[in-house]
Amino acid sequence: MQIPEQHRQHFIGGAWRAPASGTYRPAKSPGTGETIGEVAEGDRQDAVAAIEAAKAGQDALAAMTRWQRADLCHRVAERIEAQKNYLAYILSLEQGKPLKSEAYGEIEAAATGFREAAELFKFMNGDFIAAETPGKRVISYRVARGIYAVVTPWNFPINIPVEYLAPCLAAGNAVVWAPAPTTSLCASALMQCIAEAGLPDGAVNLVHGPGAVVGDEFVSNPGTHGVGFTGSPATGAKIAQRGAGKPMLLELGGNGPVIVLDDADVERAAGAAADGAFFNAGQVCAATGRILCTRKTYEELAHHLTVAAGERVAGDPLLSETTIGPLNNQAVLTKVEAHVADGLARGGKLLAGGRRRPELGSDLFYAPTVIADLGEDADLNRAETFGPVAPIIVCKDEDDLIRVANGAGHGLAAGIFSRDLAKAFRFAETVQSGLVNINGPSHYWELHIPFGGASGKQSGLGRLGGRHTLEAVTDVKTISYDLG
Ligand code: NAD
Repeated sequence: MQIPEQHRQHFIGGAWRAPASGTYRPAKSPGTGETIGEVAEGDRQDAVAAIEAAKAGQDALAAMTRWQRADLCHRVAERIEAQKNYLAYILSLEQGKPLKSEAYGEIEAAATGFREAAELFKFMNGDFIAAETPGKRVISYRVARGIYAVVTPWNFPINIPVEYLAPCLAAGNAVVWAPAPTTSLCASALMQCIAEAGLPDGAVNLVHGPGAVVGDEFVSNPGTHGVGFTGSPATGAKIAQRGAGKPMLLELGGNGPVIVLDDADVERAAGAAADGAFFNAGQVCAATGRILCTRKTYEELAHHLTVAAGERVAGDPLLSETTIGPLNNQAVLTKVEAHVADGLARGGKLLAGGRRRPELGSDLFYAPTVIADLGEDADLNRAETFGPVAPIIVCKDEDDLIRVANGAGHGLAAGIFSRDLAKAFRFAETVQSGLVNINGPSHYWELHIPFGGASGKQSGLGRLGGRHTLEAVTDVKTISYDLG
């Protein structure tokens, strides 16, 4: 398929625009290492131009009714559905996820995201508040904050932006958007769908380029009024400082435990843990980062996980039989290799994978990996790996399972397997994690379900999902009236 010529440009003020510097950089496919196009290398001048354009966009959105903005969102969803073959293709080509088993699902979710935001905000009514003072009438309701700075990662480069763009648009916020550089062409493809829906000029603006330049300008510039960020805890900490004082949604990292209690259906738990560890080659914030069990279930669990790793079909993500593609970029490969080497150096046993597979097309292919008997002090247990690695940690007893689960720095998503629902619930209530899935994979989530990190952990601030995002991107406006 042909990549449209304009997708190398920024989209500012309702038009595709060349970068002020005139500089472009190559866009690469992780599956082959080949250059597939080029993309504008934006700078602060481009970012400021986008914020300027967003002012007019915000005025126009504010003048529309909720129903009119909902119509816009539905039209974006229609464009996404009409363009689904190209969107899935570029997502698979540039991000590396398997076209058939994963990319199409992400595109469908993106269309759903626009439709849900459209309908939910229409019916988010405010309050009539009875007043103590005679003659006073008080109402409160939700209004847009203004211009949102949205900064997004490369692992779900279509759907994560939609998690912010759709609610912002439905609620009447204009957006300036800085996508991850390694999935810029995916961002342009989504932008094209939004542009074709007939939005007011400046309502959504896309600027490509380095996050530390373009994203930083969006976050820190006084012209933006709120921040939506999904990415690593390290960048999240910088953004929290640079945008201090602005309302923020920070969706950061995870190292999700799957906890297998002694009475669990072990084969089912292993299947879910493998899905959680290998889906999107493990590049998922809610991925299964570690599997915790006792000696009682260990052998069976290790066996089923090893079988599941061997069943993944690695290869060209555009081929329909492929179920695991390459990692997206060199930085993530370097981290995965360092974590695996650290785990093995600390006594972990390699049961599957543990190596690159360049014969599949590029150096970024990494075999689905199972490591058994991992020590608690290993990086695989303590930090986020973000690759296709399923490490098993053997704990002494149930107390120990909880201690190890809660010992890591993250607290985003977890899975618990047990046939005893009461016991599983007690575990769920004790695990420090924003989302806990009982008898399901750690990454189970739907667009309207609240999603975000537990307090005190490094997984972020606030909740995404359905009405939660709509609440996060709006102010409560209160008006009193004196009847005299
Ligand atoms: P990253 O933090 O390196 O980059 C994320 C985005 O921030 C990119 O667009 C990048 O260009 C931009 N950026 C980088 N430095 C910046 C700066 N100084 N100022 C402003 N923007 C800047 O993360 P990544 O490697 O792209 O993504 C992987 C991380 O994202 C993982 O930690 C993963 O867990 C997390 N993530 C979280 C969720 C969630 O919902 N909680 C979902 C997906 C990914």
